[in-house]
Amino acid sequence: MPLKLPSDRINWTTSSFLIGTALVSITAVPWYIWRFGLDAYQIGLFFAFFVATGLSITLGYHRLFSHLAFKARWPVKLFTLIFGAAAFENTVLDWASDHRRHHKHVDHDDDPYDISKGLFYAHIGWLLFKLNPIPPRNNVKDLEKDRLVMWQENNYVLIAVLAGFVLPALLGFLHGGWVGALGGFLIAGVARIVFVQHCTFFINSLCHSIGRRPYSSNCSARDSAIMALFTFGEGYHNYHHEFQHDFRNGVKWWQFDPTKWTILLLEKLGLASDLRRVPEDRILLAQLNEARRQLEARLACPSRPVSERLSDMFEASRRRMDELQDRWNALRSEYQGKLDTGVEQARATLEEIRRELRHAFDLLQRAGFTG
Ligand SMILES: [Zn+2]
Ligand SMILES: [Zn+2]
Repeated sequence: MPLKLPSDRINWTTSSFLIGTALVSITAVPWYIWRFGLDAYQIGLFFAFFVATGLSITLGYHRLFSHLAFKARWPVKLFTLIFGAAAFENTVLDWASDHRRHHKHVDHDDDPYDISKGLFYAHIGWLLFKLNPIPPRNNVKDLEKDRLVMWQENNYVLIAVLAGFVLPALLGFLHGGWVGALGGFLIAGVARIVFVQHCTFFINSLCHSIGRRPYSSNCSARDSAIMALFTFGEGYHNYHHEFQHDFRNGVKWWQFDPTKWTILLLEKLGLASDLRRVPEDRILLAQLNEARRQLEARLACPSRPVSERLSDMFEASRRRMDELQDRWNALRSEYQGKLDTGVEQARATLEEIRRELRHAFDLLQRAGFTG
């Protein structure tokens, strides 16, 4: 029986680009390397474009434009708009519109990359097919007031081709003539685009499937240190969905989040300001609530009963968490909400919450809870 594809529902332009660049990457790129070899310059060019375009998506398209997590001077905006275009993930207005709908409707039908439709759909399927009518782009009015954003919107294809294909070819040419130009085009151009795109797509697919949910299990988003390595720090996606306006995704100082580090560097250079941070007590209380919920869920799981000893420890931990929460609320009303860690009692209570959380997650691990 002939295979019938719903041709009217295929997004031909996007599909041809995604499949075409992938095919070139697995045919022409290895041929070039076999025929002409690969020198340090070409490798450096690949990584330079990988970082410039990847960070333009995570720092620019995502945290700056979609979430307004900080303010940036025009050179940062211009750079991320040019190299964000070179990642070939659409204009920032389209990207931010989709992304804001993703946060608003996560895991439901109106989520453009809804993980409940499957891993493939969330990764790339939503781009290949037009399953739903395209919703009006009415949630990015604030960005439409920005002249640089509109300049990118009106010249997107030209900017993307010049920065994404012509520039790496030109830089290749300066180093190695026409062979260098072909290498630059194939490696820092085509192969890099495929690489960056799939790393970004991971955020919609694997970051909603792999890892733990320490801040909230209200949605499918998960924290994964491994995913953070491939996504410039966006792998701490559970935190991000719970506190989407925070400029950090890896909120702990030791978590791998190069996007956060770059924003902090830009602040030092006077190019970024007004970095939005969720207060530490709100983060800890969210974790406390989630740990309590997970302990209850694990205790209530009839198919995998826990030992009596562990069950008692669960109960004791839950009671301590209740008590800490009450103590914190009392402190908050005593100081009329103006608590900061300068208040001795507040500092001590937050430290106790932190300790109790470590203990609760340790218990959950011993009971084989997978989040
Ligand atoms: Zn998400
Ligand atoms: Zn987001």
